[in-house]
Amino acid sequence: MSRDSRYDILFEPLKIGPVTTKNRFYQVPHCTGMGWQRPNSLNAMRGIKAEGGWGVVNTEYCSIHPSSDDLLCPYASLWDDSDVRAHRIMTEKVHEHGALAGVELWYGGASASNLYTRDVAFDVNSRPNWKNQPFQSRKMDKRDFRDLRQWYRDAALRARDAGFDIVYAYANHDDLLHNFQRMSSNDRNDEYGGSVQNRARLLRETVEVLKEAVGETMAIAVRFAPDDDEVREGRPVTDEAREFFAEVAELPDLWDVTVQDWSLELGISRFVKEGSLGPFTSYVKEMTSKPVVSVGRFTSPDTMVGQIKKGVVDLIGAARPSIADPFLPKKIEEGRFEDIRECIGCNMCYTGDQLGVPIRCTQNPTMGEEWRRGWHPENVRPKETESRILIVGSGPAGLEAAHALGKRGYDVMMSEARTEIGGRVTLESRLPTLSEWARVRDYREQQFLKLPNVDVYLDSYLNAEDALLTEADHIVIATGATWRADGFGRTNHIAIKGMTAPDQIFTPDDIMAGRLPEGKVVVFDDDYYYMGPVIAEMLQKAGCQVTFVCTDDIACSFGVYTTEQPSVQRSMMEAGIEMVLSKNLESYDGNEVELSCMYTERESKLQADAVVMVTARLPNDELYYELQDLVESGKAGNTKSIRRIGDCEAPAPIASAVYAGRRYALDLDDSSGINYSLRRDANFSD
Ligand code: ADP
Ligand code: SF4
Repeated sequence: MSRDSRYDILFEPLKIGPVTTKNRFYQVPHCTGMGWQRPNSLNAMRGIKAEGGWGVVNTEYCSIHPSSDDLLCPYASLWDDSDVRAHRIMTEKVHEHGALAGVELWYGGASASNLYTRDVAFDVNSRPNWKNQPFQSRKMDKRDFRDLRQWYRDAALRARDAGFDIVYAYANHDDLLHNFQRMSSNDRNDEYGGSVQNRARLLRETVEVLKEAVGETMAIAVRFAPDDDEVREGRPVTDEAREFFAEVAELPDLWDVTVQDWSLELGISRFVKEGSLGPFTSYVKEMTSKPVVSVGRFTSPDTMVGQIKKGVVDLIGAARPSIADPFLPKKIEEGRFEDIRECIGCNMCYTGDQLGVPIRCTQNPTMGEEWRRGWHPENVRPKETESRILIVGSGPAGLEAAHALGKRGYDVMMSEARTEIGGRVTLESRLPTLSEWARVRDYREQQFLKLPNVDVYLDSYLNAEDALLTEADHIVIATGATWRADGFGRTNHIAIKGMTAPDQIFTPDDIMAGRLPEGKVVVFDDDYYYMGPVIAEMLQKAGCQVTFVCTDDIACSFGVYTTEQPSVQRSMMEAGIEMVLSKNLESYDGNEVELSCMYTERESKLQADAVVMVTARLPNDELYYELQDLVESGKAGNTKSIRRIGDCEAPAPIASAVYAGRRYALDLDDSSGINYSLRRDANFSD
């Protein structure tokens, strides 16, 4: 199909200073958990984005000097010639597809950890490190200002030598330039503090340095925070930022605007929907003649067109939509809307950066595996044998295995006990705020329609005998897992003994099946992710009096890595849920739960009509063991292999199940003999 003319505007070129982007699809800088430590992985991934049609492909934040070091969080760097060589591979890959390559120069100041380089960072003043490290930055003196200008200049020249087309000054997210901007962080009384002109001086000088160094051939961009990090009566406050912006509005060639609050900019879909930043950013375009780009987890081409036509932005910025679907622009151009793999807003992609490991994505299992495993988001290796494959279970693991095996050309049968596909994503997506989880199912369902060699059998519970009757060559068990009611989990390594009221004990599976408690309900969370908080809020809103008891010190502590933790805790508190933290569950007799403090073991009691246990899941692996015994004792006919994948193997987030499905499908009949797990990326510096 060819392009629908409604979307033509998305494919119009746009001049950005001395360079021109071929279209309006702009992959903004986004972290990847790769940085300078894993250049091959990084370059392969960015190259795929350009292949997928993005007009501009940026690096992640790129340090200009060793005194701006963010490890554990991996970042790019332009410190020396080895960095130039590494980046050149990226820019060549990006240019191959007619796209522009951008680099986001970064100096962290007090927000940089410097744990790797052990340099002392400088900032607007001597302030405690913003990553909670027990040290402070030093206050910038005249020499530091001179050095900073020199480092920006050197980095810009290296960026030019590496082949970049756009060079940024990063002035947001509590980094140095941002700290000079805000009155709340800039208390200097010299020419860099006080009046708006003084606070804008450092940004002005930085942009001038970049322009002078490379501005004739490269576009200069600034990533800017257009809000005051405050919402009053439901409206974002932008007064101070707006006054600052008036001072610098015509300085660079491009404005990349995004809010300063990560949990909003990178908001998870539970709390932040597509296109939510408009009210914070829209004034920028009215105040400058320069092109503006902003993000909003845009996946709908109609919303994208609306953003440009309404004059909110000139370019559609995307990080997560480009991760979930690197081929988003191509698919829009070719009118293949049903092929778009829409981001679900879970932020699993961000955890890689926070944990210091390469990026992974729930929707796109190939993300981060482009170099190590040679995976491509759209293409798969054709089948190597005429095998028939039976997949039992159609959750995310089964769905992805069927999708990728089907694309490879195998004959695939997928049986599902329920009357609908999707397993846990279908069930969880019906819980409040999790509706976007269904996109994991919907994308794959759309793909099956194009694959005549994939047959899906609903309402088909299979036992071992049924499975063997299919005469499949390979059997894949993707039967998922069941939430436990016995308290076994992270804290209690055996079942909790004093649980004597089984009829008043519930699990997330009960809730998803519509079996709901009433009255005073304790939600006991030993899982530390979204399920406990989602259920607690759902029950509170349904009229229960919920007490959220957690063995951890905060709710949803895994959400620290996804940025959702503060939003989760705030939302529960605003809903009126009582929070009882750092307490374990000892017993429940139908009237009272007995709790013990995680630190002192001091005991306390709570009245409860019901308890919801959110602790751990038990793999549904009986079928796997039964079939394995039959295969190993030679009683399984011609079955060549039996494998378990996804939650049935080891319960984990949805991203892991999708990955397991893809990995099974691509490992099948792999005669290369390469152990990809051993393929480690490395930076070879001089
Ligand atoms: P995963 O996350 O690993 O994909 P899910 O729990 O989401 O796992 O999905 C497992 C699916 O398997 C569910 O839809 C469930 O109904 C189905 N299932 C479980 N046991 C059987 C069985 N014996 N035969 C057919 N389908 C099954
Ligand atoms: Fe979107 Fe989740 Fe993938 Fe990130 S991990 S790009 S939020 S689907």
